[in-house]
Amino acid sequence: MSDENAVSAGWDRLNSLLVRVGRPEADEAPQGGRLVNPSVTRGSTVLFPDIATMQSVGRERYEHVAIYGAMGSTVQHQLERAVAAVEGGANTQVVSSGLAACTTALLVWTSAGGHCLIPDSCYGPTRRFADTMLRRFGVETEYYDPCAGEDALRALMRSNTQVVFAESPGSHTFEIQDVKMLARVAHEGGARLLLDNTWGFGVFSPFEHGVDVSVQALTKYAAGHSDAVLGAITVADDGLWRALRDAAIQLGQLAGPDECWLTLRGLRTMGVRLAHQSRTALQVARWLDARPEVSRVLHPALPDCPGHALWKRDFSGAGTVFGVSLTPAFTRVAMEAMVDSLSLFGIGASWGGFESLVLPTTGGIVRSVSASEQSDEGPSFRLNIGLEAAEDLIADLEKGLTVLTAA
Ligand SMILES: *Cc1c(COP(=O)(O)O)cnc(C)c1O
Repeated sequence: MSDENAVSAGWDRLNSLLVRVGRPEADEAPQGGRLVNPSVTRGSTVLFPDIATMQSVGRERYEHVAIYGAMGSTVQHQLERAVAAVEGGANTQVVSSGLAACTTALLVWTSAGGHCLIPDSCYGPTRRFADTMLRRFGVETEYYDPCAGEDALRALMRSNTQVVFAESPGSHTFEIQDVKMLARVAHEGGARLLLDNTWGFGVFSPFEHGVDVSVQALTKYAAGHSDAVLGAITVADDGLWRALRDAAIQLGQLAGPDECWLTLRGLRTMGVRLAHQSRTALQVARWLDARPEVSRVLHPALPDCPGHALWKRDFSGAGTVFGVSLTPAFTRVAMEAMVDSLSLFGIGASWGGFESLVLPTTGGIVRSVSASEQSDEGPSFRLNIGLEAAEDLIADLEKGLTVLTAA
């Protein structure tokens, strides 16, 4: 398979599913007809015809039913079915953001006196939560090298290890992790494997690789238009689902119906958007990789990216976001002048939307057991590749590199 196909094949294969999932059932539509899309239903109170009906519906709290607004709306539950289908899991809880998905999952599966292993390359706010709130509640976090082998991982497991957390690829440094191996080590030690699968949504099947709980920032690919913030937690089986659903209700975790509707709408075109964007991202990554100003491009589909062989083994596609390190000949100030000069790349956080973005990463990466930057590298930045034409993006970057060299 060519590399262009390797980054986009999984997205193409997803399209038939994405057209169907989470659509209204026939009996949800008026007069026996059928709307193509769910309606946005807003509400707190749900009225019942009598007490018996209210009590019987109340016993269904593990089901996707709308009993009270704080337990989720109909459109939220439709989105939950859709996300569960894409992830290949038993059930999904939608929460207010991707970060809430990470923190809620950690709260559900850890307890005081417990120990948690988190990859050094995790999303920064997940690290902050582990280092502050989780610690305050008596859970000890230890960071591990995302590329650590099986023996090294096993040596870190303790009798009180409750969770092995994974994020593949890692935020900013893009290491692909051996999730199958992590599942083996976690399960041998009686721990659960939680995965932040945001980059791999739709092209990495967490539950076929032994993951217990997969978390998603739906903000990124699913919403896809930089207009909604939303997260999801998907579980492998019914036992995990009961624990999750109980906790989500206790924590008051849900998402507004408008955000859910936007995300479900975004999901319909996720396959075509991402097939196109992932191909363009690879073209731009390759072009940058060949430039003398660039020391390294961190994109899992490039052979020198850490974990490239695992990406080939486990993923049916690639994402839109990747890292670029310049050579040490350039200063951070010069890199910032280059970033400021770009016209097709917006300067901003997040990724996965339809528009290209750039974000300087030098100075913003925290690592405790692995290197955040290699010693032969200069300042770095992250690119998200949108729907723009590859040649336009490359022309913009070429102009930017002239500014870099002149600065
Ligand atoms: C963006 C992101 C999150 C957080 O998602 P939000 O919806 O912005 O809160 C979590 N994990 C990863 C890997 C992310 O990139």
